Amino acid sequence: MANLRFEVVAEAFHKRPVEVETPRERPSEYFAKYVFNRAKMYKYLPVEVYEKLTDVIDNGARLDRSIADAVAAGMKQWAQENGVTHYTHWFQPLTEGTAEKHDAFVEHDGKGGMIEEFSGKLLVQQEPDASSFPNGGIRNTFEARGYSAWDPTSPVFIIDDTLCIPTIFISYTGESLDYKAPLLRSLHAVSVAATGVCRYFYPDVRKVTANLGWEQEYFLVDDSLFFARPDLMLTGRTLMGHDSAKNQQMDDHYFGTIPERVQAYMKDLEIQALELGIPCKTRHNEVAPNQFELAPIFEECNLAVDHNMLLMSLMKKIAHKHGFRVLLHEKPFDGINGSGKHNNWSLSTDTGVLLHGTGKTPEDNLRFVVFIVETLMGVWRHNGLLKASIMSATNAHRLGANEAPPAIISSFLGKQVSDLLEHIEKADKEDLFSVKGKKGMKLDIPEIPELLIDNTDRNRTSPFAFTGNRFEFRAVGSEANCASAMIVLNTAVAEALTDFKKRVDALIKGGEDKLSAILDVLRDDIRTTRPIHFDGNGYSDEWKEEARKRGLDCETSCPIIFDNYLKPASIKMFEDMNVMNRNELEARNEVKWDTYTKKIQIEARVMGDLTMNHVIPVATHYQSQLAKNVQNMYDIFTPSEASNLTARNKKIIREIAERTQIIETGVEELVNARRVANKIDDARTKAVAYHDTVAPKMDDIRYQIDKLELIVSDELWTLPKYRELLFIR
Ligand code: ADP
Ligand code: MG
Repeated sequence: MANLRFEVVAEAFHKRPVEVETPRERPSEYFAKYVFNRAKMYKYLPVEVYEKLTDVIDNGARLDRSIADAVAAGMKQWAQENGVTHYTHWFQPLTEGTAEKHDAFVEHDGKGGMIEEFSGKLLVQQEPDASSFPNGGIRNTFEARGYSAWDPTSPVFIIDDTLCIPTIFISYTGESLDYKAPLLRSLHAVSVAATGVCRYFYPDVRKVTANLGWEQEYFLVDDSLFFARPDLMLTGRTLMGHDSAKNQQMDDHYFGTIPERVQAYMKDLEIQALELGIPCKTRHNEVAPNQFELAPIFEECNLAVDHNMLLMSLMKKIAHKHGFRVLLHEKPFDGINGSGKHNNWSLSTDTGVLLHGTGKTPEDNLRFVVFIVETLMGVWRHNGLLKASIMSATNAHRLGANEAPPAIISSFLGKQVSDLLEHIEKADKEDLFSVKGKKGMKLDIPEIPELLIDNTDRNRTSPFAFTGNRFEFRAVGSEANCASAMIVLNTAVAEALTDFKKRVDALIKGGEDKLSAILDVLRDDIRTTRPIHFDGNGYSDEWKEEARKRGLDCETSCPIIFDNYLKPASIKMFEDMNVMNRNELEARNEVKWDTYTKKIQIEARVMGDLTMNHVIPVATHYQSQLAKNVQNMYDIFTPSEASNLTARNKKIIREIAERTQIIETGVEELVNARRVANKIDDARTKAVAYHDTVAPKMDDIRYQIDKLELIVSDELWTLPKYRELLFIR
């Protein structure tokens, strides 16, 4: 019996790094080479068009359709100079990836020939025949179609021969069918709300921007090994596989020397990402073997989300060239760390960062505390919803395990900020004002030391940690579209700030001094948000108990966590902030439940196939070899001698028989559980059934398979083992 495994392992072992040419220019020179950025707009557009367009981008002015033709013409000229022949509306449907449908620039010229055409109409709006994207029943396939509409705030870019135009994707009736439309609405909401609050302190502030700096973790695996693992190919993770004797226990991979083949891959990836305007900055090995991270410099949130989507597809594409596969799944391997995508989030004005605590004046410091506390308010009110925003069938493997943030949302602030909040809450109000004069009162809030920024006082176990000038939302999954988490966070903070302002304004209207009014409301809110603030160990069992007492959402079942989207407080928040309506939320949940079910369904099928086609045949084959040996021993030796000498083999024969029997029964039960669940019509009930009855069976089966892997002859085992998958040379 030929064993493909040895061939692919040898092939992987002999691969050499792919030669990557170093560009002659410096990164600052080729950065955004393929992006229609400001400099190119200026060069390719008439001045008045340039001005109108930048007004749309910077100030949210309405897009004047009359400039669309001129913009399209400029874009086309630039694109053609770069050898582009096609264009596409690039959008983010409710799947994990992005979608695009390419059209050539060509049109009939009316004289029997062709001309290259790209009009404003084609730039601004398209009607992709996108009936098979998930829409949760909003859009019946025979009824209204979906539209993609240009998002001028994210610049167009070129990939190969195609001009890619970032777009939102909405239904005929205006409901969003993607991540970008609600994201833009949430960004608008938080900008308006934060600007309002900001003006208490800086009356001249024109605009507040939300920023996002993501850190993308990923695994690489050699592609020949990948293709020998049907589970990796079809589900993105290994459904079986015993621990490698050595994995991450020595901590020798973290920040270690990057293997040569990987180094070449990273170099290639970074060059191409920089050319697409993604400001890559950091790369390093992660904790687990074969796990790496890439982080750019933070950007405005909408652009950062687009860049992350773009990067993920670039990663996959470039990996092929280097003989790798990228695994973006949150938990490709059991027993070692999974991958996340920390979302560093902050708010800034045209003049500075709002979560920055080094203000020189007491007012600055008060502003800092207000934004910290109102962020906490959003997180506290909607902690269950925030958890729902990062939850998926794949990320569920990571949350709650002792490596990633726990499945309870809380916020770490660190000693300095905690002390500051306590001081403000507990102090006599008079003590917070040093001078009382006619002009109002002078605040006396302790200054926050510089040291705070990038301090080492970091709590890795917190899902939402304050890290000096930003919050780091750590529970986001590596495979996720960051928009999902950002929509909820922005909207929740927008709601909190709006509500804060309403209460402060009411006090001011009643005759209270502005600073005093702010302090009153703030002190209330510090008290209210106490339950979400937790600086201790988020992995501990005591915390689970404590969190329950504090009323935080402790649910761990993925399909039930999705219910948070439909809670009255969530619907009210989304509707009040004008981000999504009930109809959209309901539709999205249908998609979430359906996606969950399908993922587990596919895994269960693959598990069944692998068990029946690989594991059991291999195990029984080995068992026959052993049985043959036992028989031979009886031919050679006396029965009593043979009995002694074959004891070990008999034990293994028995163990294989017992384990395969358990596995076979397990697979039967798995199939039955699926059959029962498949009869359920309601998407939620079905997902719950898959979670409660199908998924756990797979764990039981896996346990037995991994035990078999340990006793069956290595020579016969067909699936590449963890120790082979996990160590790129
Ligand atoms: P670490 O792994 O220590 O958390 P990294 O340097 O890997 O830190 O990543 C930090 C990320 O946070 C980067 O993307 C960085 O640009 C981003 N970041 C830094 N300051 C801010 C800020 N004020 N707002 C949002 N993101 C920020
Ligand atoms: Mg980080």
